[in-house]
Amino acid sequence: TATPSADIGLIGLAVMGQNLILNFNDHGFVVCAYNRTISKVDHFLENEAKGTRVIGAHSVQELCAKLKRPRKVMLLVKAGSAVDDFIEKLIPHLEKGDIIIDGGNSHFPDTIRRTKNLEEKGFLFVGAGVSGGEEGARYGPSIMPGGSPAAWEHIKPIFQAAAARVDGEPCCDWVGETGSGHYVKMVHNGIEYGDMQLISETYHIMKSGLNLSHKEMAEVFEAWNQGDLNSYLIEITRDILRFKDEHGQPLVERIRDTAGQKGTGKWTAIDALDRGIPVTLVGEAVFSRCLSALKDERVRASKILHGPTTKFTGDKKSFLNQLGQALYAAKIVSYAQGFMLMRQAAKDNEWHLNYGGIALMWRGGCIIRSVFLGRIKEAYHNNPKLENLLFDPFFTEAIAKVQDSWRAVIANAILMGIPTPTLSTALNFYDGFRHEMLPANLLQAQRDYFGAHTYELLDKPGTWLHTNWTGRG
Ligand code: NAP
Repeated sequence: TATPSADIGLIGLAVMGQNLILNFNDHGFVVCAYNRTISKVDHFLENEAKGTRVIGAHSVQELCAKLKRPRKVMLLVKAGSAVDDFIEKLIPHLEKGDIIIDGGNSHFPDTIRRTKNLEEKGFLFVGAGVSGGEEGARYGPSIMPGGSPAAWEHIKPIFQAAAARVDGEPCCDWVGETGSGHYVKMVHNGIEYGDMQLISETYHIMKSGLNLSHKEMAEVFEAWNQGDLNSYLIEITRDILRFKDEHGQPLVERIRDTAGQKGTGKWTAIDALDRGIPVTLVGEAVFSRCLSALKDERVRASKILHGPTTKFTGDKKSFLNQLGQALYAAKIVSYAQGFMLMRQAAKDNEWHLNYGGIALMWRGGCIIRSVFLGRIKEAYHNNPKLENLLFDPFFTEAIAKVQDSWRAVIANAILMGIPTPTLSTALNFYDGFRHEMLPANLLQAQRDYFGAHTYELLDKPGTWLHTNWTGRG
């Protein structure tokens, strides 16, 4: 029998698994690698992992025998049945207190189920969202672990060493119970959809409304990246706009304008609908991808449906300034909506989420990393019980300062016929949220009129009344 010598076992030698193993190895941990297709283990040891302290196993049994106690086995396999299959295979070789970690993109209800099942059997389970793709896995991802709290002290040194760092702080902290780690990763992906769509709308306005060249647009993103909007997505957008094809033309204009999706944005939107939380920006971002995918129909529509003839006549420089402010305001609303959703999910699932910690985990390593997330962390640091991000004085003021610009940008875009689904829905949310009185009173009257659904009076909440609106018996 082998002597237990490995700090952690890792199953799944595709892109993510291989890179994370090398990352753990860089930080002094001994990793034992295993994969369903066993030949990949030796291939990995003889190539990518050559010269490292990584060891391998040719069976689940051998893997478990090589792990120090409590055993820590991380799965980086395709989400779905592969995770359940490996859990079943591992169980006979584990002891009580051993830890299984699922680092894939599992849907959080699966993680809730797996945590409960494994805890009943005396094992510990962690669902860890890992963001940052291949590069992140290799050099520092954002890691969002949640599940059995007792597992944290054992995996903390490994995960925090491997995670990205911002100002010396690791972008990995304990998220909460059961499926909360994967839940937070899901919301992260939804917010990512929103950020990408918002940026794309500003590009559309610059290109079609202001007729800027790609060089000029890249300069705008470069300037934005020096200020409040400083973030990975702004940075890569600048680089994309500068990228030339073999004819010296911007490659981006040759890319077919139909967006793909793997489903995590859709999960966030569906979850928001299920919980009744208006995460409108992610919803619009998902629908925008759906609309883009109707390319053939859009091509036909472009020849049939009329738009306005209005052209931009104002001062481009000051409008670009307003555009950056509009993007910033909409981004604040998007994150406020995301945190509203997590707050509700925490209530529904009895999770104890650390919102400042979540902002910190997203601040580096992942796709939505930005300076802005530092502000969110500060907001929750100043008031851990903050009801809504928009109530934090910094964000209240930040929007107040730029709201006129935001309105001007959307008004201009509408007049020019340029779609701004996320910039606009964010403003509509903002305006709805800040209205003490909404027209839902009329809506309630309509419901009572045709369906006798009853209504409450403003001064008598809790008492349900029905009116005979027609006077007929
Ligand atoms: P992947 O392509 O999602 O999965 C490939 C791995 O899963 C291989 O090790 C494969 O084993 C194993 N596998 C697939 N079906 C299996 C089954 N039925 N039973 C046992 N093993 C099975 O790999 P990945 O891109 O590295 O991603 C791993 C996880 O991380 C996924 O959940 C993914 O969604 C998530 N993730 C990926 C990224 C990214 O940028 N790629 C970023 C964040 C998170 P074989 O070699 O035997 O086929």
